[in-house]
Amino acid sequence: MKVETDLEKIKLIGKQKEDENWKFRSYLKGLDIEAEELDKIVHEINNEVTLQIDCTKCANCCKVVYPFLDEEDAAKFS
Ligand code: SF4
Repeated sequence: MKVETDLEKIKLIGKQKEDENWKFRSYLKGLDIEAEELDKIVHEINNEVTLQIDCTKCANCCKVVYPFLDEEDAAKFS
């Protein structure tokens, strides 16, 4: 599987396939499959994809995603 890594193209494709992605989410939720089996499939795909992406070069998540930290989390950083 060839993975698209250009963030602008990914944004464009995401917009173009928004309806298709929602239908796929609904399809997954309606599957008669154990959560563990679905997790196994997702992990297999994730392993294949992450081999093609270097998050340290992209770092988009670090730029746009803000994690929620509670007091306990914050204490771990101090
Ligand atoms: S940093 Fe985020 S957006 Fe970039 S490749 Fe990794 S997971 Fe994808």
